Amino acid sequence: MLRSVILAASRSSQVERLVATAPFTRDVVRRFVAGAGTDDALRATRVLVADGQAVTLDFLGEDTVTPEQANATRDEYLRLLRLLGAAGLTPAAEVSVKLSALGQLFDEQLAYDNARAICAAADAAGSTVTLDMEDHTTTDSTLDILAKLRKDYPSTGAVLQAYLRRTESDCRELSGAGSRVRLCKGAYKEPESVAYQSAREVDKSYVRCLNVLMSGDGYPMLATHDPRLIAIGEDRARWFDRGPERFEFQMLFGIRPEEQKRLVGDGYTVRTYVPYGDQWYGYLMRRLAERPANMMFFGRALMSKK
Ligand SMILES: Cc1cc2nc3c(=O)[nH]c(=O)nc-3n(C[C@H](O)[C@H](O)[C@H](O)COP(=O)(O)OP(=O)(O)OC[C@H]3O[C@@H](n4cnc5c(N)ncnc54)[C@H](O)[C@@H]3O)c2cc1C
Repeated sequence: MLRSVILAASRSSQVERLVATAPFTRDVVRRFVAGAGTDDALRATRVLVADGQAVTLDFLGEDTVTPEQANATRDEYLRLLRLLGAAGLTPAAEVSVKLSALGQLFDEQLAYDNARAICAAADAAGSTVTLDMEDHTTTDSTLDILAKLRKDYPSTGAVLQAYLRRTESDCRELSGAGSRVRLCKGAYKEPESVAYQSAREVDKSYVRCLNVLMSGDGYPMLATHDPRLIAIGEDRARWFDRGPERFEFQMLFGIRPEEQKRLVGDGYTVRTYVPYGDQWYGYLMRRLAERPANMMFFGRALMSKK
């Protein structure tokens, strides 16, 4: 019910105008999105890098239904990477890319070609690319494209979602030398046939997957704000003797910034995921619709910096 209401709102330009002008929204957007333009993204990156953090930048924009939109998204990433390189912000800054924004839903080959162009630009700028993971209907396609990209760009990062039942096995597949894997809980509404439904089951799966990645030969990227999982990550880093060059923590821009600083202070590598672009409305609303519990997530983040 709540999901349908939020989804309907996400398609209404009237509601968009209302939401866009509400004072609460401005605070939410300012807190969770770096800004509308490339300059805003660069500014946020400079501040974070100066504070000792690494960054991954996401140009907001999904719902890509035409090749023109897909190519425009690619071109923005190419521009961003040139500017990051010229500003000396690489390798600290990399980019996160949604294949759906590059055409995956209507032309997989186009999405691959666009992703490949972005990987080449990242390589030239001394940076890397991570392929965000979307809903489970795209998992196989995304992992296939990842495997093809890694032939020429082996540092291309994968994202695996602990709520999917298949993920522990995917972690084993992707835990080889040099393999960069971001482990997150997962943000989409998924059916019971493919995904654990309770928070407890998802957390237990996260720990199993974390153990596989941290005991493997790859480069785990632990993306979570969950204090218990962060503590377990710290414990496994000690156990498997992984220093800051052999794994990292990741968190979203604006969420638990004090904890991000605490981890940097303790000598860990911490990468902040920084979304930017003017498509924030759809982005925030879809996040809420995919998982109404995210309402609490954003609300809690506004109340707390810890
Ligand atoms: C860097 C990054 C990249 C991501 N990429 C993807 C992706 O490609 N695909 C995808 O599906 N999902 C992605 N996600 C989203 C992810 O799947 C989760 O939906 C999201 O991170 C929420 O899960 P959580 O692990 O942070 O913990 P939650 O289950 O949201 O929270 C667990 C606990 O953490 C603490 N906590 C959480 N937030 C706060 C807060 N604001 N203030 C204080 N305490 C808090 C609380 O104790 C809470 O009980 C990404 C997340 C991150 C951080």
